[in-house]
Amino acid sequence: MPPPKILIVGCGIAGPTLASFLLLSDVPPSQKPHITILEREAKGRAHLRGQNIDIRGAGVTIIRKLGLEAQIRAATTGEEGVQLVDENNTVWSQRGVDKTGTIQSGTADIEILRGRLSELCWKNSQRISAEAEAGGARGIEYIFGDCLREIKQKDDKVHVLLAKSGERRIFDLIVGADGMQSRTRKLVWGEEGEKERLKPIGMYAGFFSIPREDHDGNWRRWFHAPDRRGIMIRPDGVGARSTIFMYVVNDKDPRFLEVANKGNGNAQAQKALLEEYFKDAGWECERIIREMKVTDDFYYDTVSQVKMDTWNKGRVVLLGDAGYCASPISGMGTTLAFSAAYKLAGYLQTYIKGESSDPFSSLVKYNEQMRPIVEDAQQLAPGQPHVYNPETAWGIWILHVLVFSLSYTRILFIVTKFFGRILHLGPQAADYVPVEEFGFKDMSQWEVDDAGRKR
Ligand SMILES: Cc1cc2nc3c(=O)[nH]c(=O)nc-3n(C[C@H](O)[C@H](O)[C@H](O)COP(=O)(O)OP(=O)(O)OC[C@H]3O[C@@H](n4cnc5c(N)ncnc54)[C@H](O)[C@@H]3O)c2cc1C
Repeated sequence: MPPPKILIVGCGIAGPTLASFLLLSDVPPSQKPHITILEREAKGRAHLRGQNIDIRGAGVTIIRKLGLEAQIRAATTGEEGVQLVDENNTVWSQRGVDKTGTIQSGTADIEILRGRLSELCWKNSQRISAEAEAGGARGIEYIFGDCLREIKQKDDKVHVLLAKSGERRIFDLIVGADGMQSRTRKLVWGEEGEKERLKPIGMYAGFFSIPREDHDGNWRRWFHAPDRRGIMIRPDGVGARSTIFMYVVNDKDPRFLEVANKGNGNAQAQKALLEEYFKDAGWECERIIREMKVTDDFYYDTVSQVKMDTWNKGRVVLLGDAGYCASPISGMGTTLAFSAAYKLAGYLQTYIKGESSDPFSSLVKYNEQMRPIVEDAQQLAPGQPHVYNPETAWGIWILHVLVFSLSYTRILFIVTKFFGRILHLGPQAADYVPVEEFGFKDMSQWEVDDAGRKR
């Protein structure tokens, strides 16, 4: 059987991770799959955007297997923990990071900017690809700045049409790793069912960065304003900028969804709506709004979860946010993307090794094994997002006093740990994702110098 031709759509976190593990399969070079990664954004530009994300539990094991742990740890943001502040910047409570990574709290042991992580994953896949090519395999083909217009399955193959180049291509398997708004999902499962699959949780957010000021420090400062508005200011790890997560929990104003649906070409309208909601919120909002207007790394979306009964239709399978986005407030998105990419590559081994003539039994296993993991990851803490974001100034005061009391008495810590163990709630779920052995070439000893060359 000739090596399978696999198209991976999306060069974010899950896409290049899957490609890397597929090439690390324990098969002779001539049998390694032929992999193409298709990324909508131009090379090295917009797909390298995004602010603070974290890697926890099983995710850390996976980056170690990829030979990426040291590089990722060297590129973290250095966030010390989370402080709840009021409009005078008075700290009501604070919870520091557990640097051993054994207790999952707001700040994880590994916090990194999404753009930086995405770049490391992409470059690592290039290195693994170059090494595979040197050994006689076919390396990864990357196509930037294009996307799919059409996907058709017939005669055990998937036929695609590229939107910009107009090229037609044929593959044995397509993996949609194209994020929460996945076009692969819409093309194959149908646009009409999107309302059932993409579930907004009533929260809308802008992510961007602003010039850093001395008092920004290395703690995440979390400010609440009445009408369920909130802002987090966080370190970026470099020191020149601070990152912003600016959100509104709102079930009434349809404009939040409308500006999101128009996509990233609509940044002016998205910024104008956030300005309207935050201009009277006090605290550091004047500075943040001023900088938001001129920032060039603004990203806005609904905070949503993707829920589906099955993640493959024939030879098209969804991976990461495209199939089961847990949302940025779950603390699980990136860990889920790493774990799922590793598992999918692992279950596809029987197909790659030619022990099975089609990928279907591998995809059945992927669906079965990922289901409980996704269900854990998508369970948000009770009351999220409404209870955590009160409607009134009194409600915010009660929240501050409550969190202060629970933190001071360490009750918050004990409750998180206890319920985390039993319910695998929120980020605690990262510690309960099993990491099987699939016999991939181990890259954990693979060190690279600053220029990315192998030592
Ligand atoms: C630009 C951007 C900024 C983000 N910022 C944050 C953030 O600040 N905080 C946070 O918690 N999460 C953020 N996320 C989401 C976060 O990256 C994911 O939750 C998580 O890392 C899972 O990764 P993924 O690989 O499944 O999806 P993603 O990281 O979303 O990657 C998907 C990739 O697919 C590409 N793509 C999309 N559509 C197509 C298409 N039609 N054809 C080809 N390629 C396509 C995208 O450009 C992207 O490179 C951001 C995502 C993106 C795309």
